Amino acid sequence: MSSYRCRKCKNGILIAAVQGHNETELTETYECDACGHVAVIPSRMIICSQMVTSFIGGLITAYLFIEQLSIFVTVVQFNIERNLTQNIVLLVVSLLFLAGFGYTLYTGMQGLAKRKFYLKAPQRNKRFRAS
Ligand SMILES: [Zn+2]
Repeated sequence: MSSYRCRKCKNGILIAAVQGHNETELTETYECDACGHVAVIPSRMIICSQMVTSFIGGLITAYLFIEQLSIFVTVVQFNIERNLTQNIVLLVVSLLFLAGFGYTLYTGMQGLAKRKFYLKAPQRNKRFRAS
C-alpha cells in the first residue's frame, strides 16, 4: 500500500492511478484522494536500474578513460612517435559516456529524492497513527 502523502493539501494520501496500456513503467502516476492533485513519481524499478546501470557503466568507462589517459600522458611525456588519433577518440568517447552515466545517476538520485519528498510530506491531521 502506498503511503505517499499529498504535498498540496497536506491532507490526502496519494493513490496509484490506473495506468493505460501504452504507459511505460518509467513513472507511476498517483492521485490525491482528498484534493485530486496528481503526482508523477518514478517507479522503484526504474530508479534501481538507473543506479545499477550508471554504477557499472561508470566503472567500466572510468577504467577505459584512465587507461587511455595514461597512454596519452606517457606518449606526450616521453615524446614517443605514435599516432594518437585512436587514443584521443577513445578518450573523448569515454568522456561522453561518463557524462551520460553521470546524468543517469543524477536522474536516479532525483527520483529517489522525489519519492522521499512524498513519503515524508507533513500531514495536517494524524490519520496515519491509527493504521
Ligand atoms: Zn491533496
